Amino acid sequence: MIITYKNSAPTNEVSELITTLKKECSQIEIVKGENTSLICLIGNSKNVDETQVYVYPWVLNVARVSTPYKLASREYKKEDTIIDIKGVQIGANKVVMIAGPCSIESKESIDKIASSLKKNKVDFLRGGAYKMRTSPYSFQGLGDVALDYLKDASDKYKMISVCEIVSVNDLDKYLDKVDIIQVGARNMQNFDLLKALGKTNKPILLKRGMAASIEELLLSAEYILKEGNPNVILCERGIKTFEKATRNTLDLSAVAVLKKLTHLPVIVDPSHSTGRKEYVMPMALASIACGADGVMIEVHDDPTCARSDACQALNIEEYQQLLEKARQIANVLGRSL
Ligand code: PEP
Ligand code: MN
Repeated sequence: MIITYKNSAPTNEVSELITTLKKECSQIEIVKGENTSLICLIGNSKNVDETQVYVYPWVLNVARVSTPYKLASREYKKEDTIIDIKGVQIGANKVVMIAGPCSIESKESIDKIASSLKKNKVDFLRGGAYKMRTSPYSFQGLGDVALDYLKDASDKYKMISVCEIVSVNDLDKYLDKVDIIQVGARNMQNFDLLKALGKTNKPILLKRGMAASIEELLLSAEYILKEGNPNVILCERGIKTFEKATRNTLDLSAVAVLKKLTHLPVIVDPSHSTGRKEYVMPMALASIACGADGVMIEVHDDPTCARSDACQALNIEEYQQLLEKARQIANVLGRSL
């Protein structure tokens, strides 16, 4: 961390600040300039709170040289993290495909969807049990029974299940019944939930909040890693911008940026980011082309009747076409799918 301050600063206040900083960082150097000077914190300054430095009116700037997250960073771990779930790897050479309905609507429908996906060699089955809907009058998901339907289908077809948790109180049920626990965009900064998930060993699919920066996403991942759970998968799912043509704006550059900043696997959700089925295929292909480790897509056996997110759901035939093209893109890049 480098703090720039005015030379006109009262000496006793500068000494006071340096004494405070020394409690967090033992190696501090002062570089004197003509009008301004620098306080350089060498080594670990991650516990220094910038707002406590800015309380002094003579402080001009506080710049962090290293990242505020540590365990998630590439500096901490150079090689890519590969997460192995029942023998299937995420973050390795194979691009993973996660598919399934927005919400699990019945035992028959999740079974039917799982069966068609498995025939198409899809390893991961998603489906929502508790839905975080904008309106309290919208379908909220089937709840506990949906977890059983998902478990039955994923066991039957030997698939890996993915389901969003919305409350820390449900954790035990999810640990029993779900293979990958998803943290949705609306809960990306539910720090109690993140800490509780960090105390488990379950793979966590952490979605980017709709108004969260890449750094904030990585800091949320850090909450999980810091508690001891290394199995975090990041998911870009679109952010809010002024653009209205799509439900959110898919920030594909986040994939390239995250691949540089972190060793964690990165997947993309082209369904919630675009909100319209006609844009799902092009964005899924683009996600693979720009280096995503996987793509999560909403697929429904009868999209027109879907009880949530009907406009963005693909039917099985549309998803098959997507898989075919996705495989070609992956192969061009020397990856499998
Ligand atoms: C979902 O994947 O079901 C979902 C609700 O996504 P998000 O949290 O990204 O809105
Ligand atoms: Mn959805």
